[in-house]
Amino acid sequence: MENTDSTSTPEQRSPLQSLEDQIALLTEINTNIQSLRRPTSFFQPAEIASGLTVGGGVVQIYHDPPIETGFKQVKALAEKLQSKPVQEALKAAKESATKEPIGLSLGRRRRHPPKRPVTPESPPPLRSFQPKTLSFFPPDSDHQYPPLCLDDFAEYAKDYNRKGRFHLQIWTATKHDPNRPLPDPPIVRFVIPDVFTVYMTLGTISPGSSVIVESATAFGSREKKPPHAQSDFVVFQSLSQHLVKILQSKPQASFQSIVNLLEDYEDLFVRACVVCGRLITGESHVPPVVRTWRGTPPPVGKTSLWDARHPLCLD
Ligand SMILES: [Zn+2]
Repeated sequence: MENTDSTSTPEQRSPLQSLEDQIALLTEINTNIQSLRRPTSFFQPAEIASGLTVGGGVVQIYHDPPIETGFKQVKALAEKLQSKPVQEALKAAKESATKEPIGLSLGRRRRHPPKRPVTPESPPPLRSFQPKTLSFFPPDSDHQYPPLCLDDFAEYAKDYNRKGRFHLQIWTATKHDPNRPLPDPPIVRFVIPDVFTVYMTLGTISPGSSVIVESATAFGSREKKPPHAQSDFVVFQSLSQHLVKILQSKPQASFQSIVNLLEDYEDLFVRACVVCGRLITGESHVPPVVRTWRGTPPPVGKTSLWDARHPLCLD
Protein backbone atom coordinates (compact mmCIF):
# COMPACT_ATOMS: atom_id res chain seq x y z
CA MET A 1 0.00 0.00 0.00
CA GLU A 2 1.30 3.45 -0.80
CA ASN A 3 1.38 5.83 2.04
CA THR A 4 -0.12 9.06 0.75
CA ASP A 5 0.61 10.96 3.94
CA SER A 6 4.25 11.99 3.62
CA THR A 7 4.43 13.31 7.18
CA SER A 8 3.92 9.97 8.93
CA THR A 9 5.15 6.43 8.50
CA PRO A 10 2.75 3.50 8.93
CA GLU A 11 4.10 3.04 12.47
CA GLN A 12 3.26 6.66 13.36
CA ARG A 13 -0.29 6.68 11.98
CA SER A 14 -3.18 6.68 14.40
CA PRO A 15 -5.46 3.63 14.60
CA LEU A 16 -8.19 5.62 12.81
CA GLN A 17 -5.82 6.61 9.98
CA SER A 18 -4.65 3.01 9.65
CA LEU A 19 -8.25 1.82 9.49
CA GLU A 20 -9.06 4.37 6.80
CA ASP A 21 -5.99 3.25 4.84
CA GLN A 22 -7.08 -0.38 5.08
CA ILE A 23 -10.64 0.41 3.99
CA ALA A 24 -9.33 2.40 1.01
CA LEU A 25 -7.00 -0.45 0.11
CA LEU A 26 -9.74 -3.09 0.25
CA THR A 27 -12.09 -0.85 -1.74
CA GLU A 28 -9.42 -0.49 -4.41
CA ILE A 29 -8.87 -4.26 -4.50
CA ASN A 30 -12.60 -4.87 -4.78
CA THR A 31 -12.85 -2.37 -7.66
CA ASN A 32 -9.98 -4.16 -9.42
CA ILE A 33 -11.68 -7.52 -8.98
CA GLN A 34 -14.98 -6.20 -10.28
CA SER A 35 -13.34 -4.74 -13.39
CA LEU A 36 -11.50 -8.00 -14.09
CA ARG A 37 -14.74 -9.96 -13.77
CA ARG A 38 -16.00 -8.15 -16.88
CA PRO A 39 -13.40 -9.38 -19.31
CA THR A 40 -15.27 -8.91 -22.61
CA SER A 41 -13.18 -5.89 -23.56
CA PHE A 42 -10.07 -8.10 -23.48
CA PHE A 43 -11.28 -10.21 -26.35
CA GLN A 44 -10.89 -7.63 -29.05
CA PRO A 45 -8.27 -7.61 -31.77
CA ALA A 46 -5.10 -5.65 -31.18
CA GLU A 47 -5.00 -2.15 -32.56
CA ILE A 48 -2.30 -1.06 -34.93
CA ALA A 49 -0.44 1.73 -33.21
CA SER A 50 1.59 3.02 -36.10
CA GLY A 51 3.39 2.01 -39.28
CA LEU A 52 7.15 2.36 -39.69
CA THR A 53 8.97 2.25 -42.98
CA VAL A 54 12.02 -0.02 -42.69
CA GLY A 55 14.16 -0.82 -45.72
CA GLY A 56 11.44 0.06 -48.15
CA GLY A 57 8.79 -2.06 -46.36
CA VAL A 58 6.21 -1.07 -43.80
CA VAL A 59 6.47 -2.64 -40.35
CA GLN A 60 3.35 -2.37 -38.30
CA ILE A 61 3.72 -1.78 -34.58
CA TYR A 62 0.97 -3.25 -32.42
CA HIS A 63 -0.20 -2.25 -29.00
CA ASP A 64 -0.38 -5.11 -26.52
CA PRO A 65 -3.43 -7.14 -27.44
CA PRO A 66 -6.17 -6.45 -24.86
CA ILE A 67 -6.10 -10.09 -23.71
CA GLU A 68 -2.42 -9.72 -22.75
CA THR A 69 -3.23 -6.55 -20.89
CA GLY A 70 -5.88 -8.53 -19.02
CA PHE A 71 -3.40 -11.24 -18.01
CA LYS A 72 -0.97 -8.57 -16.79
CA GLN A 73 -3.71 -6.98 -14.70
CA VAL A 74 -4.65 -10.35 -13.17
CA LYS A 75 -1.00 -11.03 -12.32
CA ALA A 76 -0.58 -7.59 -10.77
CA LEU A 77 -3.74 -8.10 -8.74
CA ALA A 78 -2.54 -11.50 -7.49
CA GLU A 79 0.76 -9.96 -6.36
CA LYS A 80 -1.05 -7.14 -4.65
CA LEU A 81 -3.37 -9.56 -2.84
CA GLN A 82 -0.35 -11.41 -1.47
CA SER A 83 1.34 -8.24 -0.24
CA LYS A 84 1.67 -7.66 3.49
CA PRO A 85 -0.55 -4.52 3.74
CA VAL A 86 -3.41 -6.25 1.90
CA GLN A 87 -3.12 -9.42 3.95
CA GLU A 88 -3.15 -7.36 7.16
CA ALA A 89 -6.17 -5.39 5.95
CA LEU A 90 -8.01 -8.63 5.09
CA LYS A 91 -7.17 -10.10 8.48
CA ALA A 92 -8.42 -6.96 10.23
CA ALA A 93 -11.59 -6.98 8.13
CA LYS A 94 -12.23 -10.63 8.98
CA GLU A 95 -11.76 -10.00 12.70
CA SER A 96 -13.96 -6.89 12.51
CA ALA A 97 -16.74 -8.76 10.71
CA THR A 98 -17.04 -11.28 13.54
CA LYS A 99 -17.46 -8.55 16.18
CA GLU A 100 -20.70 -6.84 17.16
CA PRO A 101 -21.09 -3.37 15.63
CA ILE A 102 -19.95 -0.54 17.85
CA GLY A 103 -20.43 3.22 18.04
CA LEU A 104 -22.76 4.07 15.15
CA SER A 105 -25.40 1.43 15.80
CA LEU A 106 -27.01 3.53 18.59
CA GLY A 107 -27.91 0.41 20.48
CA ARG A 108 -29.94 -1.18 17.65
CA ARG A 109 -29.20 -4.81 17.12
CA ARG A 110 -27.74 -5.89 13.82
CA ARG A 111 -30.52 -7.34 11.69
CA HIS A 112 -28.42 -8.89 8.98
CA PRO A 113 -25.46 -11.20 9.34
CA PRO A 114 -22.12 -9.51 8.68
CA LYS A 115 -21.03 -9.45 5.08
CA ARG A 116 -18.22 -11.82 4.29
CA PRO A 117 -14.91 -10.08 3.81
CA VAL A 118 -13.19 -10.29 0.47
CA THR A 119 -10.33 -12.76 0.85
CA PRO A 120 -8.26 -14.65 -1.68
CA GLU A 121 -9.80 -17.92 -0.42
CA SER A 122 -13.36 -16.67 -0.65
CA PRO A 123 -14.02 -14.41 -3.65
CA PRO A 124 -17.29 -12.46 -3.71
CA PRO A 125 -20.13 -14.92 -4.20
CA LEU A 126 -21.47 -15.18 -7.73
CA ARG A 127 -25.19 -15.09 -8.45
CA SER A 128 -26.89 -18.34 -7.67
CA PHE A 129 -27.57 -20.43 -10.74
CA GLN A 130 -29.79 -22.88 -8.87
CA PRO A 131 -32.77 -23.40 -11.18
CA LYS A 132 -36.17 -22.92 -9.63
CA THR A 133 -39.24 -24.77 -10.78
CA LEU A 134 -41.10 -22.34 -12.99
CA SER A 135 -44.25 -23.21 -14.85
CA PHE A 136 -45.89 -21.54 -17.80
CA PHE A 137 -49.33 -22.92 -16.97
CA PRO A 138 -51.67 -22.80 -14.00
CA PRO A 139 -51.55 -26.06 -12.03
CA ASP A 140 -55.20 -26.85 -12.87
CA SER A 141 -54.94 -26.04 -16.59
CA ASP A 142 -55.50 -29.71 -17.51
CA HIS A 143 -59.03 -29.61 -16.17
CA GLN A 144 -59.83 -25.96 -16.78
CA TYR A 145 -61.38 -26.34 -20.23
CA PRO A 146 -63.88 -28.71 -21.78
CA PRO A 147 -62.44 -31.02 -24.45
CA LEU A 148 -62.31 -29.38 -27.87
CA CYS A 149 -62.22 -31.53 -31.01
CA LEU A 150 -61.32 -30.42 -34.53
CA ASP A 151 -64.86 -30.79 -35.80
CA ASP A 152 -66.02 -28.19 -33.32
CA PHE A 153 -63.07 -25.86 -33.88
CA ALA A 154 -64.69 -23.49 -36.40
CA GLU A 155 -67.62 -22.93 -34.08
CA TYR A 156 -65.27 -22.45 -31.14
CA ALA A 157 -63.29 -19.80 -33.07
CA LYS A 158 -66.48 -17.94 -34.04
CA ASP A 159 -67.61 -17.92 -30.46
CA TYR A 160 -64.18 -16.79 -29.25
CA ASN A 161 -64.10 -13.88 -31.69
CA ARG A 162 -67.54 -12.74 -30.62
CA LYS A 163 -66.53 -12.56 -26.95
CA GLY A 164 -63.24 -10.70 -26.98
CA ARG A 165 -60.93 -8.25 -28.68
CA PHE A 166 -58.46 -10.89 -29.88
CA HIS A 167 -58.98 -12.84 -33.09
CA LEU A 168 -58.73 -16.49 -33.93
CA GLN A 169 -58.82 -17.41 -37.62
CA ILE A 170 -58.24 -20.56 -39.60
CA TRP A 171 -55.39 -19.91 -42.00
CA THR A 172 -55.12 -21.35 -45.47
CA ALA A 173 -52.82 -20.47 -48.35
CA THR A 174 -55.92 -19.88 -50.47
CA LYS A 175 -59.31 -18.57 -49.46
CA HIS A 176 -60.96 -21.01 -47.08
CA ASP A 177 -64.55 -22.03 -47.55
CA PRO A 178 -66.00 -22.26 -44.02
CA ASN A 179 -68.29 -25.08 -45.13
CA ARG A 180 -65.36 -27.32 -46.13
CA PRO A 181 -63.36 -29.38 -43.65
CA LEU A 182 -60.27 -27.92 -42.05
CA PRO A 183 -57.08 -28.12 -44.08
CA ASP A 184 -54.58 -30.76 -42.98
CA PRO A 185 -52.71 -29.89 -40.90
CA PRO A 186 -54.92 -27.08 -39.62
CA ILE A 187 -53.13 -23.79 -39.06
CA VAL A 188 -54.72 -20.97 -37.10
CA ARG A 189 -53.80 -17.34 -36.60
CA PHE A 190 -54.11 -15.83 -33.15
CA VAL A 191 -54.01 -12.04 -33.35
CA ILE A 192 -53.58 -9.46 -30.63
CA PRO A 193 -54.05 -6.22 -32.60
CA ASP A 194 -50.95 -3.99 -32.65
CA VAL A 195 -48.94 -6.60 -30.71
CA PHE A 196 -48.46 -9.81 -32.68
CA THR A 197 -49.82 -12.58 -34.82
CA VAL A 198 -49.06 -16.13 -33.71
CA TYR A 199 -49.53 -18.96 -36.21
CA MET A 200 -50.27 -22.29 -34.60
CA THR A 201 -50.23 -25.68 -36.27
CA LEU A 202 -52.84 -27.87 -34.63
CA GLY A 203 -52.81 -31.55 -33.80
CA THR A 204 -54.93 -33.85 -31.71
CA ILE A 205 -54.36 -36.24 -28.84
CA SER A 206 -56.36 -39.13 -27.49
CA PRO A 207 -58.64 -39.68 -25.79
CA GLY A 208 -61.33 -37.65 -27.49
CA SER A 209 -59.07 -36.21 -30.22
CA SER A 210 -58.65 -33.00 -28.22
CA VAL A 211 -57.00 -30.16 -30.09
CA ILE A 212 -53.44 -29.32 -29.10
CA VAL A 213 -50.81 -26.99 -30.54
CA GLU A 214 -47.90 -28.72 -32.26
CA SER A 215 -45.93 -25.63 -33.26
CA ALA A 216 -46.24 -21.88 -32.97
CA THR A 217 -44.46 -18.94 -34.60
CA ALA A 218 -44.82 -15.26 -33.78
CA PHE A 219 -44.74 -12.30 -36.17
CA GLY A 220 -45.31 -8.57 -35.92
CA SER A 221 -48.91 -7.48 -36.51
CA ARG A 222 -48.05 -5.88 -39.83
CA GLU A 223 -45.70 -8.54 -41.14
CA LYS A 224 -47.02 -10.31 -44.20
CA LYS A 225 -45.28 -13.65 -43.96
CA PRO A 226 -46.41 -17.24 -44.31
CA PRO A 227 -46.69 -19.32 -41.11
CA HIS A 228 -43.51 -21.33 -41.76
CA ALA A 229 -41.31 -18.27 -42.30
CA GLN A 230 -39.43 -16.36 -39.62
CA SER A 231 -40.14 -12.85 -38.38
CA ASP A 232 -37.71 -10.10 -39.35
CA PHE A 233 -37.81 -8.76 -35.79
CA VAL A 234 -35.65 -10.07 -32.96
CA VAL A 235 -38.45 -9.74 -30.44
CA PHE A 236 -40.72 -12.11 -32.38
CA GLN A 237 -37.85 -14.49 -33.13
CA SER A 238 -37.17 -14.58 -29.40
CA LEU A 239 -40.85 -15.08 -28.64
CA SER A 240 -41.04 -17.90 -31.20
CA GLN A 241 -38.10 -19.64 -29.51
CA HIS A 242 -39.86 -19.30 -26.19
CA LEU A 243 -43.10 -20.69 -27.64
CA VAL A 244 -41.16 -23.82 -28.58
CA LYS A 245 -40.11 -24.18 -24.94
CA ILE A 246 -43.68 -23.67 -23.76
CA LEU A 247 -44.96 -26.41 -26.06
CA GLN A 248 -42.11 -28.74 -25.12
CA SER A 249 -42.79 -28.20 -21.43
CA LYS A 250 -46.33 -29.54 -21.85
CA PRO A 251 -46.94 -31.18 -25.24
CA GLN A 252 -50.44 -32.27 -24.23
CA ALA A 253 -51.55 -28.76 -23.20
CA SER A 254 -55.01 -27.99 -24.50
CA PHE A 255 -55.43 -25.43 -27.26
CA GLN A 256 -57.49 -23.25 -24.94
CA SER A 257 -54.76 -23.17 -22.29
CA ILE A 258 -52.23 -22.04 -24.91
CA VAL A 259 -54.58 -19.28 -26.06
CA ASN A 260 -55.15 -18.32 -22.44
CA LEU A 261 -51.40 -17.95 -21.98
CA LEU A 262 -50.98 -16.02 -25.25
CA GLU A 263 -53.66 -13.55 -24.18
CA ASP A 264 -51.34 -12.47 -21.40
CA TYR A 265 -48.97 -11.00 -24.00
CA GLU A 266 -51.28 -8.07 -24.69
CA ASP A 267 -48.85 -5.86 -22.75
CA LEU A 268 -45.72 -7.40 -24.28
CA PHE A 269 -44.27 -4.01 -25.11
CA VAL A 270 -45.13 -2.22 -21.88
CA ARG A 271 -44.75 -4.68 -19.00
CA ALA A 272 -41.36 -4.71 -17.28
CA CYS A 273 -39.53 -7.86 -16.25
CA VAL A 274 -40.37 -8.98 -12.72
CA VAL A 275 -36.71 -9.90 -12.07
CA CYS A 276 -34.62 -7.00 -13.41
CA GLY A 277 -37.38 -4.39 -13.45
CA ARG A 278 -36.57 -3.36 -17.01
CA LEU A 279 -38.57 -3.46 -20.21
CA ILE A 280 -35.57 -3.83 -22.51
CA THR A 281 -32.38 -5.64 -21.50
CA GLY A 282 -28.94 -4.47 -22.43
CA GLU A 283 -28.01 -7.97 -23.60
CA SER A 284 -30.72 -8.79 -26.09
CA HIS A 285 -32.70 -5.56 -26.59
CA VAL A 286 -36.02 -7.37 -26.37
CA PRO A 287 -38.91 -6.96 -23.93
CA PRO A 288 -39.79 -9.79 -21.52
CA VAL A 289 -41.06 -12.53 -23.88
CA VAL A 290 -41.47 -15.09 -21.10
CA ARG A 291 -44.58 -15.48 -18.96
CA THR A 292 -44.34 -17.69 -15.88
CA TRP A 293 -47.28 -18.66 -13.74
CA ARG A 294 -47.04 -16.71 -10.49
CA GLY A 295 -49.45 -18.82 -8.48
CA THR A 296 -50.43 -15.94 -6.18
CA PRO A 297 -52.99 -13.16 -6.61
CA PRO A 298 -51.75 -10.24 -8.73
CA PRO A 299 -50.32 -7.13 -7.04
CA VAL A 300 -52.67 -4.17 -6.51
CA GLY A 301 -53.56 -2.55 -9.82
CA LYS A 302 -52.53 -5.59 -11.89
CA THR A 303 -54.73 -8.27 -13.33
CA SER A 304 -52.30 -10.77 -14.80
CA LEU A 305 -51.57 -14.01 -12.99
CA TRP A 306 -48.31 -14.44 -14.92
CA ASP A 307 -44.97 -12.78 -14.32
CA ALA A 308 -43.16 -11.24 -17.28
CA ARG A 309 -39.49 -12.16 -17.55
CA HIS A 310 -36.64 -11.92 -19.98
CA PRO A 311 -35.26 -15.29 -21.11
CA LEU A 312 -32.07 -14.46 -19.18
CA CYS A 313 -34.05 -13.59 -16.04
CA LEU A 314 -35.43 -17.06 -15.41
CA ASP A 315 -33.32 -18.01 -12.37
ZN1 LIG B 1 -35.21 -9.10 -16.87
